[in-house]
Amino acid sequence: ERMISGELQEDDQSMELSLRPINLAQYIGQDKAKGNLRIFIEAAKMRNEPLDHVLLYGPPGLGKTTLASIIANEMGVQFRTTSGPAIERAGDLAAILSSLEAGDVLFIDEIHRLPRAVEEILYPAMEDFCLDIVIGSGSSARSVRLDLPPFTLVGATTRAGLLTAPLRDRFGVLSRLEYYETKDLCAIVERTADIFQVGIEKEAATEIARRSRGTPRIANRLLKRVRDISQVKGEQIISQQTTQTALEMLQVDAAGLDHIDHKLLIGIIDGFNGGPVGLDTISATIGEESQTIEDVYEPFLLQTGFIQRTPRGRQVTAKAYHHFNREVPKA
Ligand code: ATP
Repeated sequence: ERMISGELQEDDQSMELSLRPINLAQYIGQDKAKGNLRIFIEAAKMRNEPLDHVLLYGPPGLGKTTLASIIANEMGVQFRTTSGPAIERAGDLAAILSSLEAGDVLFIDEIHRLPRAVEEILYPAMEDFCLDIVIGSGSSARSVRLDLPPFTLVGATTRAGLLTAPLRDRFGVLSRLEYYETKDLCAIVERTADIFQVGIEKEAATEIARRSRGTPRIANRLLKRVRDISQVKGEQIISQQTTQTALEMLQVDAAGLDHIDHKLLIGIIDGFNGGPVGLDTISATIGEESQTIEDVYEPFLLQTGFIQRTPRGRQVTAKAYHHFNREVPKA
């Protein structure tokens, strides 16, 4: 497992709950999403109605689940959670929906992975708060409409593009979570250190923030490892020096890149003079599947400008050459 993956890993689980902010004021960064939600929540509360359905989208580990639970807290209602892959049959979802209480927030993680037959149950549930159930089969089959209590669906996805149009259109609020700025991640690291009851030098927190790929989950994971090393060294406060050494040991470089990123970038630089080169060729050269490169490895490198997509394939940028202290080839 990559140290710098935004996905939830087994090791993260023990700290997930204790670190989760519980209200909007504790939720650091994401000012746009937070500002909008604050207004919608306040308005819904004034009207004494449930909040409109909310779709949260963006890369893993940016705080979608956290924000969903905060919405429930701020609305003062129960938070119920499930996920797309966990719901196999329409009946499973019907059971969950009919157990909701008025105003509840139902959170569906990875909502793009709901089976189509299940998704269709959601349309009338979201739109009219009712369930259409078919009783019997063959010629005696008939459809019965059951009322549901009004509720708020919060859907989360890393792949908004995979959502079907009818589902997407039923969300009143679409909120895109962005990679965090270093100053916000630094505040998250300091907050987490506080919860861990350990002191940390400002420069050390900034160093962790810079290498965390804009992602709170990664920042918290790195801090946890750095803390261990600092403790073993007998430090009272996590120092900049130890942080630097620890992150080198963990093989996370100054830009938050790891050995896989290096392999990909150096592979294009050395093998193809920086590109452009097709995805399949890169895949064959470095021995990783094209799909994995495209879905997992590449997004951060594209986002941070280490590579570019061109009509003729992937091309490494001058920034990448500088990162490895290489000279940019003349055109
Ligand atoms: P996934 O979809 O992969 O589960 P996610 O986007 O739902 O990821 P969360 O589980 O909500 O991510 O957040 C990951 C971790 O980062 C949590 O432990 C949470 O405490 C922390 N975190 C996320 N956002 C913030 C924030 N804005 N302020 C402080 N901590 C945060």
